[in-house]
Amino acid sequence: MSRIKKLIRQEIQDLSAYPVPNSEGMIKLDAMENPYTWPAVAKETWAEMLKTLPINRYPDPQASHVKEGLRDVMGINKKYDILLGNGSDEIIQLLAMALAKPGATILAPEPGFVMYSMIATFCGLNYVGVPLTADFELNESAMLTAINEHQPELIFLAQPNNPTGNLWSQESIYKIIEASQGLVVLDEAYTAFTDADHLNLLDKYEHVLVMRTLSKVGLAGLRLGLLIGRSEWLDELEKLRLPYNINILTQASALFALDHYQMLLVQTEQLRVDRVVLMNDLEAINGFKVFPSEANFVLVRTATGMARSYFNALKEKNILIKCLDGSHHLLKDCLRITVGTTEQNQMLIDALSDIVNSK
Ligand code: PMP
Repeated sequence: MSRIKKLIRQEIQDLSAYPVPNSEGMIKLDAMENPYTWPAVAKETWAEMLKTLPINRYPDPQASHVKEGLRDVMGINKKYDILLGNGSDEIIQLLAMALAKPGATILAPEPGFVMYSMIATFCGLNYVGVPLTADFELNESAMLTAINEHQPELIFLAQPNNPTGNLWSQESIYKIIEASQGLVVLDEAYTAFTDADHLNLLDKYEHVLVMRTLSKVGLAGLRLGLLIGRSEWLDELEKLRLPYNINILTQASALFALDHYQMLLVQTEQLRVDRVVLMNDLEAINGFKVFPSEANFVLVRTATGMARSYFNALKEKNILIKCLDGSHHLLKDCLRITVGTTEQNQMLIDALSDIVNSK
């Protein structure tokens, strides 16, 4: 229909929607979810509690209890505010909307989280991706040159980075923050799987915010992300947040989970232990190079030209991972594997070893 072509912004017509493959019945090691569920008693108590919720009423617009719970488990100092989003995806969108003056720019190292560039396009901002080095370190001089040239309103630094899994030099991060005239957001989506923590940067720099999510610790289905920082920034962003963006089921379930946070910590600790085993097992597969990971996934490079066929062969065996070959020039022959349960990891290693040895 010509009306669609005429009315929908050209850059939106040029986009393809964020791809989510069908994973029904598969061992799902593609999306950085926590593979563990809750003990039966915890599930029972949670379900009982959900029954009592006034679903006919709007939720608490501030979700104040949830914020207090997050403050406790994450050790967030009272002097900082918290803004909640329907996943951290929504927070990225809020930030982009707030800074979307004509000609405004978002900058991020690449390969990185794809929503930074997609949301820049949704909100009419320019996007500049600065390639990492071949071993996925920050290219400090390229970053500083790009910052100087484009003067980005907003820079995203994901630590650990997705899809590479690594942490960057602290010194380079400081230099980038100090060179920026805009806002810098440290995206700590994978904070549960590393000892590194950037909350201290909030004290040091007025133009830094820290973003986190409950998605990776076992609550991806809830959609709850948070932005932490000085109230001067968050008060402005609050104006853009849609009222009631955190629904009543999410608020109540998040509170329950935060009250039982130890249960989730046991699981994330297991995933950290199993990450090491998985990395060693992957390294032992013929032709595989494993990159360092501080997250709940591992990036590997296969022998030249093999990644897609290994990915497809695993899919045939009902194991879903992420094939990154073709998505960025630095990710040639790369696969990203989410750490699963101990059993799932073993199944993956067995299947992958068979596939590689039979090719
Ligand atoms: N940031 C990074 C670096 C991510 O990898 C992801 C999810 N893949 C997100 C943010 C978004 O997480 P969510 O919207 O589930 O909170």
